[in-house]
Amino acid sequence: MKTVKLTIDGKVAEVSAELTVLQAARSVGIDIPALCYDETLEIFGACRMCVVEIEGSKKLQTSCSTLVKDGMIVKTETEKTINARRDVLQLLLDSHPNDCLTCQKAGECLLQKYAYKYDVAFRKHDGAVRPQLMDTSSPYILKDNSKCILCGKCVLACSQVSDRRVLAFAERGYDTRIIFGADESIEESPCVSCNRCVAVCPVGALVDKREYNKVRSWESQKKVVSCKACEYGCEFEVHSVKRKGISLVAKAPANGRPLCLKGRLATELKYVDEPEPPYRKVDGKFIKTTWDKALGITELLEKIEKLDKNPVEGGDTE
Ligand code: SF4
Ligand code: SF4
Ligand code: SF4
Repeated sequence: MKTVKLTIDGKVAEVSAELTVLQAARSVGIDIPALCYDETLEIFGACRMCVVEIEGSKKLQTSCSTLVKDGMIVKTETEKTINARRDVLQLLLDSHPNDCLTCQKAGECLLQKYAYKYDVAFRKHDGAVRPQLMDTSSPYILKDNSKCILCGKCVLACSQVSDRRVLAFAERGYDTRIIFGADESIEESPCVSCNRCVAVCPVGALVDKREYNKVRSWESQKKVVSCKACEYGCEFEVHSVKRKGISLVAKAPANGRPLCLKGRLATELKYVDEPEPPYRKVDGKFIKTTWDKALGITELLEKIEKLDKNPVEGGDTE
């Protein structure tokens, strides 16, 4: 593996020549802010929050899409980069609903985190507010387009599994928005409720509906657990308060893990004390169902019951 040596904020980093500046910085503990970067997804380069100064270059460079070079000297937090980030944040916040008080994402939201870090307030200019366009048709996902920052992560995360590709960008310019299927409701679309998109959304535009209004991020203890339903072992985060399992949310689908509804429901049943009833889609409509049907174990349970009633002769039974 070819390596290069560069300096980032005065720190010398010796890293693989295949890394980007952002990855190299993170490898030496320097966290360059980014709204659209995710290590498990393709580079999209949409948000421009990750701009840095590179010696010898007049323009700011996006660190998520610039490869490292030997002898490079990078500065991540200069007056120029900070002002550029403030401009990006201000543009986003000028048309964003001032909704952090009731938003499920507050406390984990990257837009909120960076607005605080760079001291940028809501609606400094009197821009148009993005229309709300709330989609409540799914029992698993709540979509609020007015909070979408068009980072593209959800589209990329959904399209990584070849038979899904449910999400896309629609329209142009200020009217650009994320759509499910052929601009359908989540319920009507071919969405399989795996929640990959929810797991990567950096803001409150896509949130887990089964967690909605149950607990604030800072009030719960969090534990990462692995799904046991198949060999992928997708990860989920159990949110508990005083040892009571309140909710379960999908973690970002790293290492090719697909995430699926069945695995999520099985994990939820195990760790959440009072889970909401499960739902499944039948002919394009969500219907409330029983846990055995949701987990696809009805026949298995019937067979177990039959076998237990008529045990094979011989030997002791518990
Ligand atoms: S998405 Fe983030 S910034 Fe927007 S209202 Fe929710 S918490 Fe606040
Ligand atoms: S829940 Fe899964 S299938 Fe549905 S849009 Fe999100 S990523 Fe795609
Ligand atoms: S819904 Fe979320 S993940 Fe998708 S583009 Fe909007 S902000 Fe990004």
